[in-house]
Amino acid sequence: MPSLEEILEFLPGLDCQQCGMLCADFAALLLNRKRAPEDCPVLHQPDYAGFIEALDELLGPLTPTAGMTIDPEKCNGCGICVTMCEYHLGNCPEARLGRGPRPQDLGRLVFHIVNGTAVVVHQELCTRLIQAAEKCNKCADHCPTKAITVF
Ligand code: SF4
Ligand code: SF4
Ligand code: SF4
Repeated sequence: MPSLEEILEFLPGLDCQQCGMLCADFAALLLNRKRAPEDCPVLHQPDYAGFIEALDELLGPLTPTAGMTIDPEKCNGCGICVTMCEYHLGNCPEARLGRGPRPQDLGRLVFHIVNGTAVVVHQELCTRLIQAAEKCNKCADHCPTKAITVF
């Protein structure tokens, strides 16, 4: 799974909001398959020829292979998962306190709230993927709507 920063390298970075949000938020929704690269109108301009294809290649197959997923239909955007996440506990105190994210935090978040829904931005940081021992389930256990599935 690509990182948010890798996705951002193939977005115009104009923050023009023609897609309804800023580039960083659009990138987060691309990662979670809630938007497609062609939903950015700017990418259809000749200056960005090849970018949509590059993003399609970077995003890879539609089905995630490991970690955790969030069902956007069930998520109510409460943010409990962001404050409970085991990775955030040690790596992003701001997220644990329910603040942000600040721009400098984006590389240290497993997920954050975008437009009222939790979206995964760095699934590779989830400790389920980097610890061979006991598997964390905290986000799924504390989600009040059972929107999170760990696997
Ligand atoms: S339309 Fe494209 S360039 Fe404009 S904010 Fe959205 S992603 Fe960025
Ligand atoms: S805890 Fe569950 S309902 Fe709340 S933001 Fe996270 S996924 Fe959504
Ligand atoms: S399983 Fe644990 S480390 Fe992974 S996202 Fe959920 S709370 Fe964070």
